[in-house]
Amino acid sequence: MEKILNAIFLGWNSAAECLWDTWSKASRSPRVVGILGPVDEGLLFRTAHSPRVFSSWKEVKESAAIDLVLDFQGRDTVPLKELPPGTILIPKEVTDLMGELCTVAQEGVKYKGVVETARDAVVTIDESHRIVFFNKAAEEMFGYSKEEVMGQDLSIIIPRPHKDRHREYVRRYVETRRGKFIDHTVDLTAERRCGEEFPISISFSVAELGGHLLMTAMMRDMSEVKAMERKLLQNERLASIGRALSFVTHEVKNPLVVIGGFARSLLRESGLSHGQREKLEIIAGEVKRLEGLLEEIQDFSKPLRLNRERLHLGPFLEGEISILRDSEICREVRVDVSVEGDPVVRADRERLRQVLVNLIKNSLEAMEKRGNILVKAAQGSEGHVEITVEDDGKGIPEDKVEDLFQPFFTTKPGGTGLGLPLCRKIVGDHGGEMSMRPRPGGGTIVTIRLPLEEEGEEDPPREVPSR
Ligand code: ADP
Ligand code: MG
Repeated sequence: MEKILNAIFLGWNSAAECLWDTWSKASRSPRVVGILGPVDEGLLFRTAHSPRVFSSWKEVKESAAIDLVLDFQGRDTVPLKELPPGTILIPKEVTDLMGELCTVAQEGVKYKGVVETARDAVVTIDESHRIVFFNKAAEEMFGYSKEEVMGQDLSIIIPRPHKDRHREYVRRYVETRRGKFIDHTVDLTAERRCGEEFPISISFSVAELGGHLLMTAMMRDMSEVKAMERKLLQNERLASIGRALSFVTHEVKNPLVVIGGFARSLLRESGLSHGQREKLEIIAGEVKRLEGLLEEIQDFSKPLRLNRERLHLGPFLEGEISILRDSEICREVRVDVSVEGDPVVRADRERLRQVLVNLIKNSLEAMEKRGNILVKAAQGSEGHVEITVEDDGKGIPEDKVEDLFQPFFTTKPGGTGLGLPLCRKIVGDHGGEMSMRPRPGGGTIVTIRLPLEEEGEEDPPREVPSR
């Protein structure tokens, strides 16, 4: 037969009550034979089989449900020898401690719930730089599941140059308990699973648990904020450049028209020597070139007035490219077009043609007029079409991409450096975005994202002439 373990609570509180409840339900648990301590008047006795509160000592003694009655009334200590063998005494300090633990655990559960569903990524590491906590937002931000990263070294989410530095930093902190980042927010970069580095705002805190240090980082993805900041700065810069340009072009244009006009009228005169004629032709030619440049600058510096219409991109791209294909400059270049579905946008046909021509020209110049160009239109993110112009030319360095969009940045002897900024401006005024990246395997891909025409959006009705 199994030995029955008896238990006596030396004090009664919520933790004791909780234990009592649990034990009463399980047959192999200790059998509670008594609770020592005053409850209102007399002693409180209960049994595992018939939990009851007795109102008087007499009632306790007379009850047949009590397995064993121990009379400790009025005593401070428990006479061990009077207890049945195997009886365990549960001191009040134990149940008090258990009560506290329960509260902490409940708070912990609550806290864990809050942290788990927080918008910020929360990652905790131990002293040996291993991940011990990784919340949902962290899973989304970094692209790893919690199961994958638990127990792994934190360096998987730290970009390469900082991996060892961070481990060293933590080691030093554990040793000295001193670190300049603790309790501060700083801007750093982190690395997603796909290898992409991105800016984060991060704050660190440290907690000591059972003699061990747990270091927690709360991180917010700043990619969008930073992109927005960049854009704002860029717009501001462009606006001020634009103002300066429109002033200068205005000042230069009139004298230029006069110079050009005189040169042309002189050219019409008879009796010019060959040398004089040649010089005048150079003047007229240069004036023409400068007028072209001024036109480009003006396009760039003044607000565009868009003449929007419903445009089916498929036929539009096919048409434009077939004209280009027939031109002399595309003789040794293969230009392909591929359009997915029938994307319709509201756009200024002339301006969009200007963008396309600019991009194709850049591609041609990048591949010394021999190679392949592919113009594609496909469904982009929700409600957008993505037009890409791909070439296998000499390509662009990844870290210089944004420079190329700066006005007057050019690597060509006769270049103006206004093509790309103007294209971006036109696309931006259409509510779209334009970016560039190196093409894997060599060359360049330019991407234009335009909002698709919404359902029911139509050209304003033309007025019907009344009779
Ligand atoms: P420009 O053509 O007058 O130089 P852009 O603004 O059109 O001015 O282009 C700026 C610079 O970007 C070019 O000088 C070139 O270095 C680079 N670039 C543009 N498109 C491409 C491309 N498809 N391939 C390689 N480099 C390019
Ligand atoms: Mg160009």
